[in-house]
Amino acid sequence: MLDHLRQIVQDVSAAKDIQSTLDIIVARVKDAMQTEVCTVYLYDKNTDRYVFMATEGLNKQAQGRLSLTRDQGLVGLVASREEPINLDDAASHRAYKLLPDIGEEEFNAFLGTPIIHHREVLGVLVVQQRQRRKFDESEEAFLITVAAQLAGVIAHAKVVGAITPFERTGNQQNNDVRFRGIACANGIGMAEAVIINPSADLTAIPERRCENPEQEIAFFHKSLATVKTDMQSLRDRFAERLAKQETALFDVYLQMLDDNALGGEIEVRIEQGLSAASAVSEVVLSHIATFEGMDDPYLRERAIDIKDLGQRLMAYLQRVEHQHYDFESPRILIAEELTASILAEVPKGMLAGIATVRGTSNSHVAILARSMGIPTVMGLKSLPLKKLHEKALIIDGYNGELIANASDATCQRYENFQQEERLVDRGLEQYKDLPCKTTDGQEISLQVNAGIISDAERALSLGAEGVGLYRTEIQFLISERFPSEEEQRVAYRRQLEAFHPRPVTMRCLDIGGDKALPYFPIEESNPFLGWRGMRVTLDHPEIFIVQIRAMLKANANLGNLQILLPMVTQLSELGDARNLIMRAHSELVQEIPNLPLPKIGVMVEVPSAVYQIDTFARCCDFISLGSNDLTQYLLAVDRNNPRVSTLYNHYHPAVLQACYQVAQACNHAEIPSSICGELAADPAAAVLLMAMGFNSLSMSSSNLLRVKSLLRFITMDDAKRLLRGVLKLDNAQDIQDYLQRNLEDIAITPLFQGVREQSK
Ligand code: PEP
Ligand code: MG
Repeated sequence: MLDHLRQIVQDVSAAKDIQSTLDIIVARVKDAMQTEVCTVYLYDKNTDRYVFMATEGLNKQAQGRLSLTRDQGLVGLVASREEPINLDDAASHRAYKLLPDIGEEEFNAFLGTPIIHHREVLGVLVVQQRQRRKFDESEEAFLITVAAQLAGVIAHAKVVGAITPFERTGNQQNNDVRFRGIACANGIGMAEAVIINPSADLTAIPERRCENPEQEIAFFHKSLATVKTDMQSLRDRFAERLAKQETALFDVYLQMLDDNALGGEIEVRIEQGLSAASAVSEVVLSHIATFEGMDDPYLRERAIDIKDLGQRLMAYLQRVEHQHYDFESPRILIAEELTASILAEVPKGMLAGIATVRGTSNSHVAILARSMGIPTVMGLKSLPLKKLHEKALIIDGYNGELIANASDATCQRYENFQQEERLVDRGLEQYKDLPCKTTDGQEISLQVNAGIISDAERALSLGAEGVGLYRTEIQFLISERFPSEEEQRVAYRRQLEAFHPRPVTMRCLDIGGDKALPYFPIEESNPFLGWRGMRVTLDHPEIFIVQIRAMLKANANLGNLQILLPMVTQLSELGDARNLIMRAHSELVQEIPNLPLPKIGVMVEVPSAVYQIDTFARCCDFISLGSNDLTQYLLAVDRNNPRVSTLYNHYHPAVLQACYQVAQACNHAEIPSSICGELAADPAAAVLLMAMGFNSLSMSSSNLLRVKSLLRFITMDDAKRLLRGVLKLDNAQDIQDYLQRNLEDIAITPLFQGVREQSK
């Protein structure tokens, strides 16, 4: 059975559209279960009915023409009960409804199971048989397994099929097609997409046509000849070391590239009008699917060889195609994966948004995008890249969504929102040089999160009162090796000097989790619960001490450095780190007299630190709460997993209670407390955090004036009243509604984006 299942999933994944997907499913399931009928009914949102879409065994002419409501027939019953129904005599069931013309009268046995994806019933999968008998347990289990496995593929095929060939967004007939990913940089981007293919990824080639097939064929032949030469020289080089039968593979490669094989097929597709790259992608992918579907394991393996050849061809083709990107107007960059160098190729002002299949909010490109203020969504797992080239798209960097095929109404809504944002930003300029003070005189320090030097310039121009979180790992992430002590010292000195006399809180190297250094790979099956933050640096004192020495030296004659320790889960880690810091300091003092000893703080970002907050507060100089990780660990939700992103909500009462507890403990111990996760950047949440008693809030510069404008409009009494109300509520949704209701009178819509974003 498992083999059948694997085969079905493989065949279905290679299908080109929703109808072929369903046709394959019904044919393969009927065969695998040796039954007489297999049918798929798909739910149609517009009519609210289950449509008879594909069948093997019933009348194919009726496909797409007949449908049932959720109250009709056994199919409706399976869908509404969301569970399988197994009957030996379908016609005698009270819910039975005979659909005219499909020819199911003679079939008595009925087994139907819902196809459910992310809680949504997409359709119903049915098998039927003449013989009056119940399908046995193993058959029922098989059908349920098939339906569960195929739900994702069907959902994807439905979404992709819903992207119409309209070139422009904004059409009354359009239905928004939404793809969910990880929000990596705030903002709304609306523009045409351009697909970037950094590596020779065969699946990411858009279907482009060529104007001059003859020229395109010549171009293809040139690449083909180069790949053939490469193959020959690889074979010759290997011939000295390998046995004859091992180098024979290269002869097979060369034969495949021949005019009568792959090469010839690709040429035919170019003659028919496809670009060389599109033709290679199409032909090679279809051969890969054929080979992967073969029963013979040897032949199945050959799929890898074909892929290799295809990628080699594509690499040569793309080297030339690379010039064709058009950036005459701002574009949304979409790609499987982006590199910083590709980002750098886009002319200034021409980047309206970024969307990628892979990548996380801590990837290098995401960091750069945030600092450049480019709306970015990553981790869009099911993005059909090919279909999106030159399509008008919307990137919603607040909600982590990409919208294709947007309707008029959606376009209008986002345009209004962009407009509002621009107006608000312009209106906020006036607060740049004003203190962050409530109307009844309570002050709170607003600082920034930084990591590259351009962050500092922007932050200072917006009136930041210091750096609440300097992510030192960014310098490590963009280097080819560990930066030397002197390289680090220079970078830190620039930050400290730029902000002097304002404080700069430098966090020690925080790698692991999703922050991987290319030259120090950490392979773990559960990286967020693994070797990260202080755990790595305490295990590698040679790395930690170099960094501390660089920080201390950079702080000479300045004294505005504070050191922050990430991912601390036990008191001993604070003690160990402090000992190393003191050792580095006492050594350096010999060379640099009067070298200031910085304050040492602990990041509270795991539940154990919250439960031990009184002890930590007694033993360190300040506390900074990292709400990004704390939310992740308190709610057990991976912050980079789009599948559970709706559960990642920093308005969850447990998160707010934890923040409150931390602020109170710090006040009690009389040490400064700050918050540096995204929660602080959300104006509505900032009101609550101030009321809880945090002394400073640290956020990316783009949110600084928004937060300040709201805090300058309310009184501390009002903020405390709001907090009291919020703490009585027991779920995130109610908290967001409550905040929105109560803050609406004083704040303008875009300031509530955080509340809205979390409440979606
Ligand atoms: C946090 O976890 O809240 C935080 C600020 O650290 P980072 O996002 O860099 O993990
Ligand atoms: Mg963190």
